[in-house]
Amino acid sequence: MVERDESFPEIRDSVRRLCADFQGTYWQAHDRCRTYPTEFVQRLTDHGFLSVLIPEEFGGSGLGLGAATAILEEVHRSGGNGAACHAQMYVMGTVLRHGSEAQKRTYLPRVASGSLRLHAFGVTEPASGTDTTRLRTFARREGDRYVINGQKIWISRAEHSDLMVLLVRTTARDSVTKPTQGLSVLLIDMREAIGRGLTIRPIRTMLNHGTTELFFDNLEVPVDCLVGEEGEGFKYILDGMNAERILIASECIGDGRFFIDRATAYAKDREVFGRPIGQNQGVQFPIARAYAQISAAAGVVARAAELFDADRPCGTEANMGKLLASEASWFAADVCLQTHGGFGFAEEYDIERKFRETRLYQVAPISTNLILSHIATHVLGLPKSY
Ligand SMILES: Cc1cc2nc3c(=O)[nH]c(=O)nc-3n(C[C@H](O)[C@H](O)[C@H](O)COP(=O)(O)OP(=O)(O)OC[C@H]3O[C@@H](n4cnc5c(N)ncnc54)[C@H](O)[C@@H]3O)c2cc1C
Repeated sequence: MVERDESFPEIRDSVRRLCADFQGTYWQAHDRCRTYPTEFVQRLTDHGFLSVLIPEEFGGSGLGLGAATAILEEVHRSGGNGAACHAQMYVMGTVLRHGSEAQKRTYLPRVASGSLRLHAFGVTEPASGTDTTRLRTFARREGDRYVINGQKIWISRAEHSDLMVLLVRTTARDSVTKPTQGLSVLLIDMREAIGRGLTIRPIRTMLNHGTTELFFDNLEVPVDCLVGEEGEGFKYILDGMNAERILIASECIGDGRFFIDRATAYAKDREVFGRPIGQNQGVQFPIARAYAQISAAAGVVARAAELFDADRPCGTEANMGKLLASEASWFAADVCLQTHGGFGFAEEYDIERKFRETRLYQVAPISTNLILSHIATHVLGLPKSY
């Protein structure tokens, strides 16, 4: 096993011990049947690992993003996957930063204890794609209710969530001066909504991600589920995205380290032509390159988390961290598979599962091109392409 980054060593150590109880066979079984890893999520919840970003006054440990990245990195390095529950860590940030005092007091302590699951975050729509301001799901105000109609796609964990942060239009795009205006954030109680205007349809994908399509057909919700001001929702969603990108990047770093650990161990052990395959430079160089790439990406991700925790601008670092980490983890995945030869394709080695899982991060939660576009226009001042 290669040397470990020892930021938050105690947290890392307890996450590693917890993950040791959830071996490859556990993840393989859930992957095979596309079922939700409830026991794993419960254990992380019980240990307080999902509430590290919630301030102490609301029942969390208020440790910050650096600690959260250490947790997710270790989950992924162990061969597990944080996707089933990582959103419980950060989706609440919209309520924390923009919610009313009453919303914070009502929801945050219960999210911190895990008695309320806030795993779902509904932005993407089939027609708008990455062009978020073109989303069409509309909430019409009628007295003390909003009536919601529309459709969302790729909304993960909706079936395993009590609450969902939902981005909708409350004013039509052609009635506002800027397309980013007229969008609002609603906090939907899924327990009330399902069957009363909200239908969830699971989408089977190449990985076990519990993602779904949502259909809103005159779903009525009370107006007090509005977070912040009506029409200002785009800003609220945007400012949660840095945390999300940094956390996802830390999952990529964990994946990358998993692949490097496994490739290194196998290359030392497997003998072909009378010597370990790792003695061949054609085998060891790609692993060494993967290590260098993951280490470099990890440095950028750590810097982004530091800036975030210091309340300093971190958009560029968060984006670069996510870009570099997702590409480095994918490179490491490919190297690991190649190092294992035929065995890399066998389910029991976990390589093919992690290979499928780590590919997602170049598309979601934001695709590589859109990050490059951010760097090109916001950092380098090149002309905007869209
Ligand atoms: C498993 C999974 C889970 C997800 N979970 C959630 C969730 O919980 N909540 C949620 O809201 N969303 C979720 N998503 C959606 C995800 O955020 C989007 O898939 C992602 O942002 C890309 O959007 P899109 O699929 O609409 O691609 P599109 O916007 O249709 O883009 C398709 C391709 O074209 C490229 N492209 C588009 N425009 C440009 C341009 N101007 N310049 C260069 N390239 C461009 C993109 O980079 C991309 O590669 C999930 C997706 C998946 C697959």
